Amino acid sequence: MKKNIEEFLDLVKQRNGHEPEFLQAVEEVAETVIPYIVKHDIYYGKNILLRMVEPERLISFRVSWVDDSGEIQVNRGYRIQMNSAIGPYKGGLRFHPTVNASILKFLAFEQVFKNSLTTLPMGGGKGGSDFDPKGKSDNEIMRFCHAFMSELFRHIGPNTDVPAGDIGVGAREIGFLFGMYKKLRNEFTGVLTGKGLSWGGSLIRPEATGYGTVYFAESMLNTKNESVKGKTVVISGSGNVAQFAAEKVLQLGGKVVTLSDSSGYIYHEGGIDEAKLKFVMELKNVKRGRINEYLKQYPNAKFVSGKTPWEVPCDIALPCATQNELNEKNAKTLLQNGCICVSEGANMPSTKGAISAFHDAKILFAPGKASNAGGVATSGLEMSQNSLRISWTRKEVDDRLKGIMKNIHDSCIEYGTEDDGYINYVKGANIAGFVKVADAMLAQGIV
Ligand code: GLU
Repeated sequence: MKKNIEEFLDLVKQRNGHEPEFLQAVEEVAETVIPYIVKHDIYYGKNILLRMVEPERLISFRVSWVDDSGEIQVNRGYRIQMNSAIGPYKGGLRFHPTVNASILKFLAFEQVFKNSLTTLPMGGGKGGSDFDPKGKSDNEIMRFCHAFMSELFRHIGPNTDVPAGDIGVGAREIGFLFGMYKKLRNEFTGVLTGKGLSWGGSLIRPEATGYGTVYFAESMLNTKNESVKGKTVVISGSGNVAQFAAEKVLQLGGKVVTLSDSSGYIYHEGGIDEAKLKFVMELKNVKRGRINEYLKQYPNAKFVSGKTPWEVPCDIALPCATQNELNEKNAKTLLQNGCICVSEGANMPSTKGAISAFHDAKILFAPGKASNAGGVATSGLEMSQNSLRISWTRKEVDDRLKGIMKNIHDSCIEYGTEDDGYINYVKGANIAGFVKVADAMLAQGIV
């Protein structure tokens, strides 16, 4: 078995050696899925995983735009169409200076498994740009989004590829992107998700990733006759995912003590309650400020500069910022301080070493491709509403979201329960996600 995994990874490394994040994501999948493939004749010897690690299409393009001082700026745009076996490519767009082919390939690869887990008919893709939205005016953001879409539009469509938001792409950006798509195609379609409510968006979509991450944590805790109620929760990030994860924790009776951004974290020992969270939402979403400005309003809180919040004692940790933000050392500190549950709101926030530490300690650990799937699942619900030309109520969408998160949890139990009864959610999510896509690929032949 070890040899099968090593041979496979050597081959992937030969082709993608310079892409560390992509290799990290592939390695995690290979270690759990290859033993399953070897045991099942229908998958064995068909090179299915080798086909799955190669993007069906990788588009890279120039984005030129003019900044407020009249200077011409050039960025690189991407769309990675990873796998369309079970539906149109689906996945977010990320605008961040760290964006490159490795980051987007890891995200697109994870998206294939995540989307499959939702049970909705969505393939996997991801895209974005190395454009840095920080400090840009609304007009600059608009000009950049329009320039980006003036190329992307020819590669996407409601039955081909349906992008959405991710880091640096929220409601404002989706609006500008949709406006240019509609102008170029002269078509009003559900080509993007995360749209505004009055023009085809879905209720609960902004909340969905964060809510889903907490619903998943609650399901995990229930397996131990525990719940979020009364627990102390450490959250990283302060963007869309972190904000609504915090909101749901509060609704379920937990206490949120931290939020963060790339400059450091705030620690409010007494708890970040609804009013304080509302202040953070206004600060981040409207004023586009930094998290340390929280202290101007709440001087009792502490700001710890340049650090991540994993040193704060907690029962539950929700990493909701970005990839590799929680390393092995952080994991060991969390464990020493009594953390019993980690539910990832971001994509691949825990390093390989951190995941091993959580598994060795046999605590509840959910990988993002399972626990943060609520966002893309609700994007799938937005697509359904667009196709039907109807809109569901808040309760209808939330009930569907809860049902999907519960299904994903059940699939993880089905495929991830070890002989000693420990639920390995990484193994469960990878195999359950793989099976559906692999079956579709086998049925469709070598294409
Ligand atoms: N960017 C989100 C994710 O990582 C959402 C993607 C979508 O809604 O298409 O899953």
